[in-house]
Amino acid sequence: MSMTCPHCGKVMHVRTSQKASLVSKEAYYRCSNANCGHIAIGITELIRTVVPANHPNPNCSLPVVKPDKAAPPILF
Ligand SMILES: [Zn+2]
Repeated sequence: MSMTCPHCGKVMHVRTSQKASLVSKEAYYRCSNANCGHIAIGITELIRTVVPANHPNPNCSLPVVKPDKAAPPILF
């Protein structure tokens, strides 16, 4: 997964990541622009279930949504 650097607009790549919770992961991102040098921490989190698991974990309680509500907004 990559992100766009908020300072120079170049791509940022994940250097390391670790589990933060049952549904989230924390990652260190580094900007690919050597002249920028920005390093940041980001979170990736599961927020909704589109298709329930066949063998659900009772400790996981993500809300179930219809597929048309699950699509992320289109950004331009
Ligand atoms: Zn940058």
